[in-house]
Amino acid sequence: MTQKLIVIGAGMATGRMLETLVEQHADFDITLFNAEPRGNYNRIMLSPVLSGEKTYAEIVTHDDDWYTASGITCRFGERIAGINTAAKTVTAENGDVLEYDKLVFGTGSNPFMIPLPGHDLEGVIAYRDLEDTQRMMDLGEGNKVVVIGGGLLGLEAAAGMAARGVDVTVVHIMDHLMERQLDEAAGYLLRRALVDKGITVKCAANSKEILGEKGKVRALLLDDGTELPCDLLVMAVGIRPNIKLATEAGLAVGKGIHVDDQMVTSDADILAVGECVEHQGAIFGLVAPLYDQAKVAAQTLMGQEAAFVQKELSTKLKVTGCDLFSAGDFAEGETREDIVFRDPARGVYKRLVLENNVVVGAVFYGDTTDSNWFFGLIRDKTDISDMRETLIFGPNMQGGEVDPLQAVAALPADAEICGCNGICKGQIVEAIEGGATTLADIKAGTKASGSCGTCTGLVEQVLAVTLGDDFVVPAAASVCGCTELTHEDVRRLIKSQGLKSQDAVWQQLAWSTPNGCHVCRPAINYYLIADWPLEYQDDPQSRFVNERNHANIQKDGTYSVVPRMWGGITTPDELRAIADAADKYNVPTVKVTGGQRIDLLGVRKEDLPAMWYDLNKAGMVSGHAYSKGLRTVKTCVGTDHCRFGTQDSTGLGIKLEKLLWGSWTPHKVKLGVSGCPRNCAEATCKDVGIICVDSGYEVSVAGAAGMDVRETELLAKVPTEEEAIAVTTAYIQIYRENAKYLDRGYKWVAKVGLDWVKEQVVDDLENRAALVARFELSQSIYRNDPWAEHAAKADAYQPLADLTLEAAE
Ligand SMILES: Cc1cc2nc3c(=O)[nH]c(=O)nc-3n(C[C@H](O)[C@H](O)[C@H](O)COP(=O)(O)OP(=O)(O)OC[C@H]3O[C@@H](n4cnc5c(N)ncnc54)[C@H](O)[C@@H]3O)c2cc1C
Ligand code: SF4
Repeated sequence: MTQKLIVIGAGMATGRMLETLVEQHADFDITLFNAEPRGNYNRIMLSPVLSGEKTYAEIVTHDDDWYTASGITCRFGERIAGINTAAKTVTAENGDVLEYDKLVFGTGSNPFMIPLPGHDLEGVIAYRDLEDTQRMMDLGEGNKVVVIGGGLLGLEAAAGMAARGVDVTVVHIMDHLMERQLDEAAGYLLRRALVDKGITVKCAANSKEILGEKGKVRALLLDDGTELPCDLLVMAVGIRPNIKLATEAGLAVGKGIHVDDQMVTSDADILAVGECVEHQGAIFGLVAPLYDQAKVAAQTLMGQEAAFVQKELSTKLKVTGCDLFSAGDFAEGETREDIVFRDPARGVYKRLVLENNVVVGAVFYGDTTDSNWFFGLIRDKTDISDMRETLIFGPNMQGGEVDPLQAVAALPADAEICGCNGICKGQIVEAIEGGATTLADIKAGTKASGSCGTCTGLVEQVLAVTLGDDFVVPAAASVCGCTELTHEDVRRLIKSQGLKSQDAVWQQLAWSTPNGCHVCRPAINYYLIADWPLEYQDDPQSRFVNERNHANIQKDGTYSVVPRMWGGITTPDELRAIADAADKYNVPTVKVTGGQRIDLLGVRKEDLPAMWYDLNKAGMVSGHAYSKGLRTVKTCVGTDHCRFGTQDSTGLGIKLEKLLWGSWTPHKVKLGVSGCPRNCAEATCKDVGIICVDSGYEVSVAGAAGMDVRETELLAKVPTEEEAIAVTTAYIQIYRENAKYLDRGYKWVAKVGLDWVKEQVVDDLENRAALVARFELSQSIYRNDPWAEHAAKADAYQPLADLTLEAAE
């Protein structure tokens, strides 16, 4: 018969337990209570949310659809207030009494608040959940924050807020940061890296009192009399298992709720998992053991045999630019020896602690590439006598080989790859043999790399080793060889860390080359232009050949020149100027392009500036005809001449072109405006296509007619020309602000979803106006004619790269 299972707490541990139950079709009628007003999310990713590297939506592990499909009754925002173990009932906060056959505790921890005078003032918070994170995110630039606690959580909070421009001071009672995980030398390097991020660090500092004003925090007073003013005070000094409810229910508790190897408490029908648990005298604060407990609890509930075994743990700090790994025990001792490697110039420090030829502890700062291999040595208690001399240089130096994949190939099947989820190499290889070929497949099939993500590189190496040539670097690969960050990461970090120059990007995002390369520089140049139009100075050296030359290079080395004809309209004077230029510079071919412009083909490079000068004099601008920017707006003749036209499509096309020209975009942008659904301007295969209809304007987006042929999709139907222009402008701007460099509009829309674009551009009028305003701000700088600017300069046309030759049109 179906049993009633009540779960208290939708945390990381119970989330994993529920998944196992659902996957194995366990016969339970499940009700899930959570004090937080939401379901399971990846709590460890709150730090990337705080720093702006991820959004909350991206860290949700189980959404409403999953609970519905799994038949779980959710009572979020509801706390369990009491348990009657004799009657086997729980009482919810609102007084509802529910019966259970089995009950699982997953109540996690409470952050410890030092009972300093003033700890209950408004503005004194912990760092535990989304509400705390939101409080920190709500602080504006220039606000002051004090973080008490220089451990993992405190430092992630500090770095996250500093990335948002908040003035942060970390107060730590010990002599160096993260003293439980790091030795002094690594602690020093970490401190220096944080100071470089603008964070003030005070070690050996004792907090005395929290000072307030009108009930709100004002400053932290240290016992040496120093006052540190603050608008918010974050206490991150440790956690205590949340055992109140269990104690009141009469369960056996110590520091946490006592459980046996099967995760059963002192009551045979009640189990407990996660940070609220005490197992063999130990309590837990990292997810790896909690996930093991969760699996064991699920198996116990299903009547299967399983036992929880405690394993060695490791720590990584999730602060961009602070590569830090620590595992095992590195306290000093008579039988212990150290191997230390320092490279001060690179800020690299590695220390191994050995005891009886076994590695018992490891601390790495600055280069953590081989940390998993060392962690395996610690966990497996491997005898390292034979490799002692080269041990510190990592797996690549063992056996004289320097192939980075060799170390991964040599790992045994039971070597742990993903610490959070306890996934070993063998499970990943099994998934690959079962058909997985991408990181996403591995994540979905095994959960490896699905939590804190620090093992992603290693999982990819296992893929590469197992699949050989069949392994294709995933689409979300890094920008280029100069960084491990993806385009999306870089875009987010440029915004969240306020990086406003190329140097700031190379430095802050730890580029491995001094000035980037021909792949990343155009992208970074574009991102900086798009995000900081007023502050950033465009770098012509970081542009592709067509943009640098303001003309398109052709197969014989000559160039094509395409003067702008707004909306495809021209005049006899313009035609004369074009004809004169064609004569004067011996242009061999004059061609009408598909975008309704006249293309002068076969121009010699040395003639370009003079020719631009002549065309400029005749009032013609261009220079963007082959740019990653607005190309042309194709129009039909519309109401002026056509019997069918419903609106002035030519006029609208001209307005749009005059508005949008000059803006830089992730890739080229083409528009079309047709005066009626007969669509003579072929608007439905453009990046933005507008069809005029009796009732107004249909604005559709994400079309293409190149290597991929796509019909546009309807974004909005609007009654007025003003709205059609506003929707178009807002769409271009949201594409400019979000897309990966060199992603065409249709590719970007496929990634983010048209519904999201509609929400931002069509439904949210305030956001639409803000996007238009930001576009106009950018255009105040960039709506200029590069021909005019460069017409006088005959030199400096060396391309950075000619990788992106555009097809001649
Ligand atoms: C900012 C941050 C960063 C972290 N980074 C890392 C990291 O990098 N690596 C790592 O391994 N670990 C990290 N951790 C620790 C990790 O998140 C925890 O170990 C893990 O979330 C604990 O899981 P849990 O299921 O035991 O409890 P939780 O995830 O805390 O879930 C407990 C849930 O129970 C609910 N609850 C409590 N009482 C009741 C009640 N009476 N009724 C109903 N619901 C109740 C709570 O509201 C809560 O939602 C981090 C933690 C934080 C806060
Ligand atoms: S699209 Fe309609 S209005 Fe425009 S030219 Fe063709 S038939 Fe005429």
